[in-house]
Amino acid sequence: MPTNSVSLRTKTTMMQIPLLDLKQQFEAIQDEIMPSLAKLCASQQFILGPKVEEVERRIAEYCQAAYGCGVTSGSDALLVSLMAEQIGAGDEVITSPYTFFATAGAICRTGAKPVFVDIDPVTYNIDVTQIEAAITPKTRAIIPVHLYGQAADMDAILAIAQKHGLVVVEDACQAIGAECRGRRVGALGEYGCLSFFPSKNLGCFGDGGMVLANDEKRAARLKILRNHGMAPQYHHHLIGSNFRLDALQAEVLLKKLPHLDDWTAARQKNAADYDRLFAGVDGIALPVEAAWSTRHVRNQYVIRIVNGRRDVIWEGLKAVGIGCAVYYPVPLHLQECFTSLGYGPGDFPESERAALETLALPIFPELTMEQKERVAAEVIRLLKA
Ligand SMILES: *Cc1c(COP(=O)(O)O)cnc(C)c1O
Repeated sequence: MPTNSVSLRTKTTMMQIPLLDLKQQFEAIQDEIMPSLAKLCASQQFILGPKVEEVERRIAEYCQAAYGCGVTSGSDALLVSLMAEQIGAGDEVITSPYTFFATAGAICRTGAKPVFVDIDPVTYNIDVTQIEAAITPKTRAIIPVHLYGQAADMDAILAIAQKHGLVVVEDACQAIGAECRGRRVGALGEYGCLSFFPSKNLGCFGDGGMVLANDEKRAARLKILRNHGMAPQYHHHLIGSNFRLDALQAEVLLKKLPHLDDWTAARQKNAADYDRLFAGVDGIALPVEAAWSTRHVRNQYVIRIVNGRRDVIWEGLKAVGIGCAVYYPVPLHLQECFTSLGYGPGDFPESERAALETLALPIFPELTMEQKERVAAEVIRLLKA
Protein backbone atom coordinates (compact mmCIF):
# COMPACT_ATOMS: atom_id res chain seq x y z
CA MET A 1 0.00 0.00 0.00
CA PRO A 2 1.45 3.41 -0.93
CA THR A 3 2.46 5.55 2.01
CA ASN A 4 0.14 8.42 1.17
CA SER A 5 -2.95 6.18 1.37
CA VAL A 6 -1.81 4.85 4.77
CA SER A 7 -1.40 8.34 6.13
CA LEU A 8 -4.74 9.35 4.62
CA ARG A 9 -6.44 6.51 6.41
CA THR A 10 -4.72 7.36 9.72
CA LYS A 11 -5.87 10.94 9.35
CA THR A 12 -9.47 9.88 8.69
CA THR A 13 -9.44 7.55 11.69
CA MET A 14 -8.14 10.31 13.92
CA MET A 15 -10.97 12.58 12.89
CA GLN A 16 -13.69 10.06 13.68
CA ILE A 17 -16.37 11.39 15.99
CA PRO A 18 -18.55 8.64 17.41
CA LEU A 19 -22.25 9.13 18.12
CA LEU A 20 -21.53 8.02 21.67
CA ASP A 21 -18.24 7.36 23.47
CA LEU A 22 -18.81 5.44 26.69
CA LYS A 23 -15.15 4.51 27.13
CA GLN A 24 -14.22 8.08 28.04
CA GLN A 25 -16.84 8.14 30.80
CA PHE A 26 -15.65 4.77 32.11
CA GLU A 27 -12.00 5.83 32.16
CA ALA A 28 -12.89 8.90 34.20
CA ILE A 29 -14.73 6.97 36.92
CA GLN A 30 -13.36 3.43 36.85
CA ASP A 31 -11.30 3.95 40.01
CA GLU A 32 -14.50 4.86 41.86
CA ILE A 33 -16.46 1.91 40.51
CA MET A 34 -14.18 -1.10 40.17
CA PRO A 35 -13.19 -1.64 43.84
CA SER A 36 -16.82 -1.76 44.94
CA LEU A 37 -17.64 -4.22 42.16
CA ALA A 38 -14.75 -6.42 43.32
CA LYS A 39 -16.13 -6.26 46.85
CA LEU A 40 -19.56 -7.28 45.66
CA CYS A 41 -18.06 -10.20 43.73
CA ALA A 42 -16.22 -11.31 46.86
CA SER A 43 -19.53 -11.31 48.76
CA GLN A 44 -21.31 -13.25 45.95
CA GLN A 45 -24.57 -11.47 46.94
CA PHE A 46 -25.99 -10.50 43.56
CA ILE A 47 -29.77 -10.81 43.83
CA LEU A 48 -31.70 -7.82 45.26
CA GLY A 49 -30.40 -6.90 48.75
CA PRO A 50 -29.14 -3.62 50.27
CA LYS A 51 -27.47 -2.17 47.13
CA VAL A 52 -30.67 -2.52 45.11
CA GLU A 53 -32.71 -1.01 47.96
CA GLU A 54 -30.28 1.88 48.25
CA VAL A 55 -30.32 2.69 44.54
CA GLU A 56 -34.12 2.51 44.53
CA ARG A 57 -34.24 5.09 47.33
CA ARG A 58 -31.62 7.34 45.75
CA ILE A 59 -33.02 7.36 42.22
CA ALA A 60 -36.61 7.80 43.48
CA GLU A 61 -35.39 10.78 45.50
CA TYR A 62 -33.51 12.19 42.47
CA CYS A 63 -36.71 11.93 40.44
CA GLN A 64 -38.92 13.32 43.25
CA ALA A 65 -40.89 10.08 43.49
CA ALA A 66 -41.86 8.28 46.69
CA TYR A 67 -40.82 4.78 45.59
CA GLY A 68 -38.48 3.07 43.15
CA CYS A 69 -38.54 -0.54 42.02
CA GLY A 70 -35.38 -1.75 40.28
CA VAL A 71 -36.08 -3.96 37.28
CA THR A 72 -34.23 -5.70 34.46
CA SER A 73 -34.71 -3.02 31.78
CA GLY A 74 -36.77 -0.08 30.65
CA SER A 75 -38.82 -2.46 28.55
CA ASP A 76 -39.67 -4.55 31.60
CA ALA A 77 -40.38 -1.37 33.60
CA LEU A 78 -43.14 -0.62 31.09
CA LEU A 79 -44.41 -4.20 31.09
CA VAL A 80 -44.51 -4.60 34.88
CA SER A 81 -46.29 -1.22 35.27
CA LEU A 82 -49.07 -2.38 32.95
CA MET A 83 -49.17 -5.76 34.72
CA ALA A 84 -49.52 -3.99 38.07
CA GLU A 85 -52.72 -2.38 36.72
CA GLN A 86 -53.92 -5.78 35.43
CA ILE A 87 -54.11 -4.37 31.94
CA GLY A 88 -54.54 -7.16 29.40
CA ALA A 89 -56.72 -8.73 26.72
CA GLY A 90 -59.61 -6.49 25.69
CA ASP A 91 -57.92 -3.33 26.95
CA GLU A 92 -56.49 -0.46 24.92
CA VAL A 93 -53.49 1.68 25.78
CA ILE A 94 -52.71 4.96 24.02
CA THR A 95 -49.19 5.94 23.01
CA SER A 96 -47.31 7.55 20.15
CA PRO A 97 -45.99 5.61 17.13
CA TYR A 98 -42.76 7.62 17.05
CA THR A 99 -40.77 6.00 19.86
CA PHE A 100 -38.62 2.98 20.52
CA PHE A 101 -40.40 -0.32 19.91
CA ALA A 102 -40.53 -1.23 23.62
CA THR A 103 -43.23 1.34 24.41
CA ALA A 104 -45.78 -0.43 22.21
CA GLY A 105 -44.19 -3.87 22.62
CA ALA A 106 -44.93 -3.81 26.36
CA ILE A 107 -48.61 -3.08 25.66
CA CYS A 108 -48.85 -6.07 23.33
CA ARG A 109 -47.02 -8.37 25.77
CA THR A 110 -49.88 -7.88 28.26
CA GLY A 111 -52.44 -8.85 25.60
CA ALA A 112 -53.75 -5.29 25.36
CA LYS A 113 -53.89 -3.30 22.12
CA PRO A 114 -51.74 -0.23 21.42
CA VAL A 115 -53.75 2.68 20.05
CA PHE A 116 -51.52 5.27 18.42
CA VAL A 117 -51.86 9.04 18.51
CA ASP A 118 -49.65 11.15 16.24
CA ILE A 119 -46.85 13.39 17.52
CA ASP A 120 -46.53 17.12 17.66
CA PRO A 121 -44.03 17.95 14.87
CA VAL A 122 -42.08 20.47 16.96
CA THR A 123 -41.35 18.42 20.11
CA TYR A 124 -41.84 14.90 18.64
CA ASN A 125 -43.90 14.06 21.73
CA ILE A 126 -47.54 12.91 21.69
CA ASP A 127 -49.93 15.54 20.31
CA VAL A 128 -52.13 16.12 23.35
CA THR A 129 -54.87 17.72 21.24
CA GLN A 130 -55.48 14.35 19.54
CA ILE A 131 -55.59 12.09 22.60
CA GLU A 132 -59.26 12.42 23.49
CA ALA A 133 -60.42 11.36 20.04
CA ALA A 134 -58.57 8.05 20.52
CA ILE A 135 -60.21 7.20 23.85
CA THR A 136 -62.84 4.42 23.77
CA PRO A 137 -64.63 2.53 26.56
CA LYS A 138 -61.74 0.01 26.37
CA THR A 139 -58.99 2.55 27.03
CA ARG A 140 -57.19 1.90 30.32
CA ALA A 141 -53.96 3.88 30.16
CA ILE A 142 -51.86 6.47 28.34
CA ILE A 143 -48.10 6.05 27.90
CA PRO A 144 -46.57 9.44 27.08
CA VAL A 145 -42.92 9.21 25.97
CA HIS A 146 -40.52 12.00 26.97
CA LEU A 147 -38.63 11.67 23.72
CA TYR A 148 -34.97 12.70 23.38
CA GLY A 149 -34.96 13.93 27.00
CA GLN A 150 -37.77 16.48 26.76
CA ALA A 151 -40.93 16.27 28.87
CA ALA A 152 -44.25 15.73 27.13
CA ASP A 153 -47.00 18.14 28.20
CA MET A 154 -47.85 16.26 31.39
CA ASP A 155 -50.38 18.76 32.73
CA ALA A 156 -52.55 18.28 29.66
CA ILE A 157 -52.08 14.50 29.71
CA LEU A 158 -52.86 14.17 33.43
CA ALA A 159 -56.00 16.29 33.01
CA ILE A 160 -57.26 14.04 30.20
CA ALA A 161 -56.40 10.91 32.20
CA GLN A 162 -58.23 12.19 35.24
CA LYS A 163 -61.30 13.15 33.24
CA HIS A 164 -61.52 9.67 31.68
CA GLY A 165 -60.29 7.60 34.64
CA LEU A 166 -57.10 6.43 32.92
CA VAL A 167 -53.75 5.44 34.38
CA VAL A 168 -50.64 7.30 33.16
CA VAL A 169 -47.42 5.30 32.68
CA GLU A 170 -44.62 7.68 31.77
CA ASP A 171 -41.95 6.34 29.43
CA ALA A 172 -39.09 8.37 30.89
CA CYS A 173 -36.42 6.00 29.55
CA GLN A 174 -34.67 8.86 27.71
CA ALA A 175 -35.44 11.53 30.26
CA ILE A 176 -34.13 10.91 33.78
CA GLY A 177 -34.14 14.25 35.60
CA ALA A 178 -36.13 16.09 32.93
CA GLU A 179 -38.75 18.49 34.24
CA CYS A 180 -42.23 19.55 33.20
CA ARG A 181 -43.13 22.95 34.68
CA GLY A 182 -40.54 22.47 37.42
CA ARG A 183 -41.49 18.91 38.35
CA ARG A 184 -39.44 15.85 37.47
CA VAL A 185 -40.83 13.41 34.94
CA GLY A 186 -41.45 9.83 36.00
CA ALA A 187 -43.07 10.97 39.24
CA LEU A 188 -46.06 12.72 37.62
CA GLY A 189 -48.12 9.77 36.39
CA GLU A 190 -49.05 6.65 38.38
CA TYR A 191 -45.87 4.99 37.09
CA GLY A 192 -42.62 6.31 35.65
CA CYS A 193 -40.31 4.02 33.68
CA LEU A 194 -36.54 4.50 33.51
CA SER A 195 -33.95 2.64 31.47
CA PHE A 196 -30.30 2.25 32.39
CA PHE A 197 -29.34 0.90 28.97
CA PRO A 198 -25.78 2.14 28.36
CA SER A 199 -26.78 4.84 25.84
CA LYS A 200 -29.22 6.51 28.23
CA ASN A 201 -28.13 9.51 30.33
CA LEU A 202 -27.60 7.22 33.34
CA GLY A 203 -26.43 3.88 32.00
CA CYS A 204 -25.33 0.77 33.83
CA PHE A 205 -22.92 -1.96 32.68
CA GLY A 206 -25.53 -3.87 30.72
CA ASP A 207 -29.31 -3.79 31.05
CA GLY A 208 -31.27 -2.28 33.90
CA GLY A 209 -34.35 -0.21 34.61
CA MET A 210 -36.62 1.17 37.30
CA VAL A 211 -40.27 1.92 37.88
CA LEU A 212 -41.10 4.99 39.95
CA ALA A 213 -44.39 5.33 41.81
CA ASN A 214 -45.90 7.58 44.46
CA ASP A 215 -48.62 5.25 45.67
CA GLU A 216 -47.54 2.78 48.37
CA LYS A 217 -49.87 -0.01 47.24
CA ARG A 218 -48.71 0.27 43.63
CA ALA A 219 -45.06 0.23 44.71
CA ALA A 220 -45.66 -2.90 46.81
CA ARG A 221 -47.36 -4.62 43.86
CA LEU A 222 -44.45 -3.78 41.56
CA LYS A 223 -41.98 -5.33 43.98
CA ILE A 224 -44.01 -8.53 44.23
CA LEU A 225 -44.51 -8.77 40.46
CA ARG A 226 -40.82 -8.32 39.65
CA ASN A 227 -40.09 -11.34 41.85
CA HIS A 228 -42.52 -13.91 40.37
CA GLY A 229 -45.50 -12.47 42.23
CA MET A 230 -44.09 -14.14 45.29
CA ALA A 231 -44.79 -13.00 48.87
CA PRO A 232 -43.82 -14.64 51.13
CA GLN A 233 -41.36 -17.05 49.52
CA TYR A 234 -42.99 -19.76 47.38
CA HIS A 235 -46.46 -18.26 47.85
CA HIS A 236 -47.69 -16.71 44.61
CA HIS A 237 -50.78 -14.50 44.67
CA LEU A 238 -50.00 -12.75 41.41
CA ILE A 239 -48.42 -14.02 38.20
CA GLY A 240 -45.18 -12.11 37.93
CA SER A 241 -41.81 -13.00 36.52
CA ASN A 242 -38.13 -12.37 37.09
CA PHE A 243 -37.78 -8.65 36.46
CA ARG A 244 -35.12 -8.04 39.13
CA LEU A 245 -32.34 -5.46 38.91
CA ASP A 246 -29.14 -7.08 40.21
CA ALA A 247 -26.77 -5.77 42.84
CA LEU A 248 -23.82 -5.30 40.44
CA GLN A 249 -25.86 -2.92 38.27
CA ALA A 250 -27.19 -1.20 41.39
CA GLU A 251 -23.62 -0.58 42.55
CA VAL A 252 -22.65 0.89 39.16
CA LEU A 253 -25.68 3.18 39.28
CA LEU A 254 -24.93 4.28 42.85
CA LYS A 255 -21.43 5.31 41.79
CA LYS A 256 -22.61 7.05 38.62
CA LEU A 257 -25.62 8.91 40.02
CA PRO A 258 -23.54 11.64 41.75
CA HIS A 259 -22.09 12.53 38.30
CA LEU A 260 -25.41 12.68 36.49
CA ASP A 261 -26.05 16.40 36.95
CA ASP A 262 -22.59 17.25 35.56
CA TRP A 263 -23.11 14.96 32.58
CA THR A 264 -26.53 16.48 31.96
CA ALA A 265 -25.07 20.00 32.15
CA ALA A 266 -22.42 18.99 29.58
CA ARG A 267 -25.15 17.65 27.27
CA GLN A 268 -27.10 20.90 27.68
CA LYS A 269 -23.96 22.90 26.89
CA ASN A 270 -23.41 20.79 23.77
CA ALA A 271 -26.98 21.45 22.65
CA ALA A 272 -26.56 25.20 23.22
CA ASP A 273 -23.30 25.16 21.23
CA TYR A 274 -24.94 23.34 18.31
CA ASP A 275 -27.87 25.78 18.43
CA ARG A 276 -25.39 28.62 18.09
CA LEU A 277 -23.29 26.91 15.38
CA PHE A 278 -26.41 26.16 13.30
CA ALA A 279 -28.15 29.51 13.87
CA GLY A 280 -29.54 30.93 10.63
CA VAL A 281 -28.60 27.90 8.52
CA ASP A 282 -31.23 27.13 5.85
CA GLY A 283 -32.67 23.67 5.29
CA ILE A 284 -32.66 22.40 8.86
CA ALA A 285 -34.93 22.77 11.88
CA LEU A 286 -33.21 22.68 15.26
CA PRO A 287 -34.64 21.05 18.40
CA VAL A 288 -37.17 23.31 20.14
CA GLU A 289 -37.76 23.45 23.87
CA ALA A 290 -41.46 23.54 24.70
CA ALA A 291 -42.79 26.18 27.10
CA TRP A 292 -43.54 23.55 29.77
CA SER A 293 -40.15 21.83 29.41
CA THR A 294 -38.21 23.48 32.22
CA ARG A 295 -35.34 20.96 32.16
CA HIS A 296 -34.52 19.22 28.89
CA VAL A 297 -31.87 16.58 29.63
CA ARG A 298 -30.75 16.19 25.99
CA ASN A 299 -30.44 12.45 25.60
CA GLN A 300 -30.37 13.18 21.86
CA TYR A 301 -29.79 16.26 19.72
CA VAL A 302 -32.06 15.69 16.75
CA ILE A 303 -32.21 18.00 13.76
CA ARG A 304 -34.83 17.91 11.04
CA ILE A 305 -33.55 18.10 7.48
CA VAL A 306 -36.13 19.31 5.03
CA ASN A 307 -36.32 18.97 1.22
CA GLY A 308 -35.85 15.19 1.30
CA ARG A 309 -32.10 15.45 1.85
CA ARG A 310 -31.82 13.63 5.19
CA ASP A 311 -30.42 10.39 3.79
CA VAL A 312 -27.82 12.22 1.69
CA ILE A 313 -26.59 14.07 4.76
CA TRP A 314 -26.73 10.93 6.90
CA GLU A 315 -24.55 9.07 4.35
CA GLY A 316 -22.28 12.08 3.94
CA LEU A 317 -21.59 12.33 7.66
CA LYS A 318 -20.89 8.61 7.90
CA ALA A 319 -18.45 8.93 4.99
CA VAL A 320 -16.36 11.49 6.88
CA GLY A 321 -16.37 9.49 10.12
CA ILE A 322 -19.10 11.29 12.03
CA GLY A 323 -21.44 9.04 13.96
CA CYS A 324 -25.13 9.86 13.58
CA ALA A 325 -28.37 7.91 13.71
CA VAL A 326 -32.04 8.03 12.88
CA TYR A 327 -34.41 7.63 15.82
CA TYR A 328 -36.60 6.18 14.34
CA PRO A 329 -36.60 5.26 10.62
CA VAL A 330 -39.91 3.32 10.66
CA PRO A 331 -42.76 4.55 12.86
CA LEU A 332 -44.34 1.79 14.91
CA HIS A 333 -47.70 1.74 13.09
CA LEU A 334 -45.83 0.68 9.94
CA GLN A 335 -43.78 -2.09 11.57
CA GLU A 336 -44.40 -5.56 10.19
CA CYS A 337 -45.10 -7.04 13.63
CA PHE A 338 -47.99 -4.61 14.11
CA THR A 339 -49.73 -5.29 10.79
CA SER A 340 -52.65 -6.87 12.64
CA LEU A 341 -53.42 -3.52 14.29
CA GLY A 342 -54.69 -2.44 10.89
CA TYR A 343 -52.81 0.83 10.47
CA GLY A 344 -51.34 1.97 7.18
CA PRO A 345 -49.27 4.71 5.54
CA GLY A 346 -50.81 8.15 6.00
CA ASP A 347 -52.45 7.35 9.35
CA PHE A 348 -49.92 9.36 11.38
CA PRO A 349 -48.42 11.88 8.97
CA GLU A 350 -46.21 13.72 11.46
CA SER A 351 -44.62 10.50 12.72
CA GLU A 352 -44.03 9.40 9.14
CA ARG A 353 -42.51 12.77 8.22
CA ALA A 354 -40.26 12.74 11.31
CA ALA A 355 -39.04 9.25 10.37
CA LEU A 356 -37.95 10.63 6.99
CA GLU A 357 -36.49 13.95 8.14
CA THR A 358 -34.77 13.57 11.51
CA LEU A 359 -31.11 12.93 12.25
CA ALA A 360 -29.42 12.61 15.67
CA LEU A 361 -25.94 14.11 16.05
CA PRO A 362 -23.31 13.27 18.70
CA ILE A 363 -24.14 14.97 22.01
CA PHE A 364 -22.40 12.80 24.64
CA PRO A 365 -21.01 14.79 27.61
CA GLU A 366 -17.29 14.45 26.74
CA LEU A 367 -17.66 15.94 23.23
CA THR A 368 -15.11 18.73 22.70
CA MET A 369 -15.72 22.16 21.19
CA GLU A 370 -13.51 21.20 18.25
CA GLN A 371 -15.64 18.11 17.63
CA LYS A 372 -18.89 20.09 17.80
CA GLU A 373 -17.49 22.65 15.37
CA ARG A 374 -16.48 19.90 12.98
CA VAL A 375 -19.89 18.17 13.16
CA ALA A 376 -21.64 21.47 12.47
CA ALA A 377 -19.25 22.39 9.66
CA GLU A 378 -19.76 19.03 7.93
CA VAL A 379 -23.56 19.24 8.22
CA ILE A 380 -23.50 22.77 6.78
CA ARG A 381 -21.11 21.72 3.99
CA LEU A 382 -23.40 18.81 3.05
CA LEU A 383 -26.50 21.03 3.17
CA LYS A 384 -24.93 23.36 0.63
CA ALA A 385 -23.56 20.59 -1.60
C1 LIG B 1 -34.46 2.73 25.73
C2 LIG B 1 -35.92 2.90 25.67
C3 LIG B 1 -36.80 1.92 26.15
C4 LIG B 1 -36.35 0.55 26.57
O1 LIG B 1 -35.38 0.49 27.52
P1 LIG B 1 -34.45 -0.82 27.64
O2 LIG B 1 -33.76 -0.62 28.94
O3 LIG B 1 -33.52 -0.81 26.47
O4 LIG B 1 -35.33 -2.00 27.63
C5 LIG B 1 -38.14 2.19 26.13
N1 LIG B 1 -38.62 3.35 25.67
C6 LIG B 1 -37.82 4.31 25.19
C7 LIG B 1 -38.41 5.58 24.70
C8 LIG B 1 -36.44 4.11 25.16
O5 LIG B 1 -35.65 5.06 24.65
